[in-house]
Amino acid sequence: MAGRGRGRGAYYRAKYGGGRGSHRSDDVIDQSSNTQLPASGGSRDWSRLESDLRSIDGQQYGAYKRLLGKYQHESPAFTLSVDHVQGDAFASPSRVRAIMPWEQTGLPDEYLLSDARRVALCDFVTRVCASMIRAKHLDRNNASEKGGWSGPKGGAFNINAPGQEVLPRTSAMINGNKTIELRFTTSLPAAGRTVLGQQAHQILAVNVVELVKQSLLYMNLDQAKLQQHLVSVENQAGLRRELAANNLIAFVANGAILPRASGASAAPMESTTAIRFQSPKELEVKLQLPDGSNVSGMGIPRGITLLTGGGFHGKSTLLEALQLGIYNHIPGDGRELVVTDPTAVKIRAEDGRSVAAVDISPFISDLPGGKDTKRFSTDDASGSTSMAANISEALESGCKTLLIDEDSSATNLLVRGQRMQLLIRHEPITPLVSKARALFDQHGVSTVIVIGGLDDWLTVADQVIALESYVPRDITAEAKAIVRKFPSNVSEYADYGSLPARKFQVDLNGKRSPYAMRKGFISIKPEARNAVDDPSEAEPGLDLSGIDQLVEVGQSRLIATLMQKGSFDGVDVERVLDVSLPNGDLVAVRRLELTAALSRLRGVGITQ
Ligand code: ADP
Ligand code: MG
Repeated sequence: MAGRGRGRGAYYRAKYGGGRGSHRSDDVIDQSSNTQLPASGGSRDWSRLESDLRSIDGQQYGAYKRLLGKYQHESPAFTLSVDHVQGDAFASPSRVRAIMPWEQTGLPDEYLLSDARRVALCDFVTRVCASMIRAKHLDRNNASEKGGWSGPKGGAFNINAPGQEVLPRTSAMINGNKTIELRFTTSLPAAGRTVLGQQAHQILAVNVVELVKQSLLYMNLDQAKLQQHLVSVENQAGLRRELAANNLIAFVANGAILPRASGASAAPMESTTAIRFQSPKELEVKLQLPDGSNVSGMGIPRGITLLTGGGFHGKSTLLEALQLGIYNHIPGDGRELVVTDPTAVKIRAEDGRSVAAVDISPFISDLPGGKDTKRFSTDDASGSTSMAANISEALESGCKTLLIDEDSSATNLLVRGQRMQLLIRHEPITPLVSKARALFDQHGVSTVIVIGGLDDWLTVADQVIALESYVPRDITAEAKAIVRKFPSNVSEYADYGSLPARKFQVDLNGKRSPYAMRKGFISIKPEARNAVDDPSEAEPGLDLSGIDQLVEVGQSRLIATLMQKGSFDGVDVERVLDVSLPNGDLVAVRRLELTAALSRLRGVGITQ
């Protein structure tokens, strides 16, 4: 393919460079600022970018706005689109995109054949770009302590860097199989309020070109590694699809490395230290991967599964791997072949959360003061009511597998001791142990629960898996024998009760744009704040820290963006993102996380 595309800039310009028949991505209007792309939409020559940068050197910062629009690079042919220019050196960074015609990349057409491949390819090029940016320190700011006000500022150039999961992201996207684009942010450099044209030239006219060449041209990529990335992701997606046909809700491959390097790192534990996963013989299944190979491991059947064992033996680690098994992982993560029902939801107690019009009556009724639990609302839920609301909301959004850890649960929602039943007559709570069977029989919802001490759960379990020094053992038969010998009197209900069905209406009137600075929080400030703000007042916003399956801040940003747009469709993690969103730092979430987030919004309009 060497030499392909050389000197064909004019051809591509005619074919792709704006004007009639251009792609949707070429018509993106910047929605988040007042700057709009030039109405003409036509591309300017690359030499124009260079002369523009020269001409604004030393001018007031606002002169950068002149760069808005598109520039056509030749050899390799790509369009640089300057979509947003910041107002000053301290404002949120400017946004640029590099858009390359698919033919120009030299990438094999078969990489376009499935969503999984397209997502994996975009994920790969984002990683290549991100690591080059880091290696060359392009992400560094110029701000120097000594320089003071007039010293150089800005200069940082970035792409939204991914973590361990392979997800659709707006950092790189394929548009209609015709173009592939990269989205960057850059803080346009200045000295005081003055444009640093030379530095801006280095960023936009030199570094961008190099990044584009290294990350989008097939001949420059590590082709074997790229191929491995695509095969791995496609295998994971295929494996996850196999679950249902095999009556499983999760699969953990033999050899998988589940523990992480530390509590603060998502990277795998050193393979010399970690005990690799090995399925008990009783639960071992062999599944076929899309690439034709087979993989053996532990299949967790539908129904009620207990994960038990002594403290510090790896129970929570296994459950955490399962809760992230809804995502595909990068090769080398250790959990590539750990897959879970794509609708699985981690449920936890989350006292203090806001609950709006949720039917929690399957678990809670007869609250003091006659509070309605078919339409339960509170600004400050308790451990048990928050956990009941989390279950109801998950089921409402289509969850078919509940993942629960005793460590992070409200005990009184999980079980109710025999003697307590005699002692306390007006207990409003029916615990999950009494409803789990009905939930499965009536609604096909499975439960995987980590239990250390609450032995009532042995009565209702279909499978009991014990972890002993990180090695799983199937102890179902032993558990059943013990239950026969020492029966417990857990009352099991035949009827689960009702599932909620709500409609969300988010009214952001009088609020500033929701924005996610970190994964666990979307800040939503009132439009006009009191002149004398009370510093003790908590930051107003939406707390997402109880949603354990959010893995990247970009997902919270997408939730904030969708809230803003009033669109609540979410973006399935298996599907690609909508290119009409202008930012390059958004990451796909499931509808389940989106509705979970909306459900926690205080003052949201919700109807049943
Ligand atoms: P539990 O929930 O049973 O109390 P955890 O899952 O929290 O136990 O694990 C306890 C510790 O053991 C953690 O530090 C974890 O990283 C480590 N660990 C878990 N699984 C393994 C494994 N397979 N190999 C080595 N260390 C592990
Ligand atoms: Mg634990």
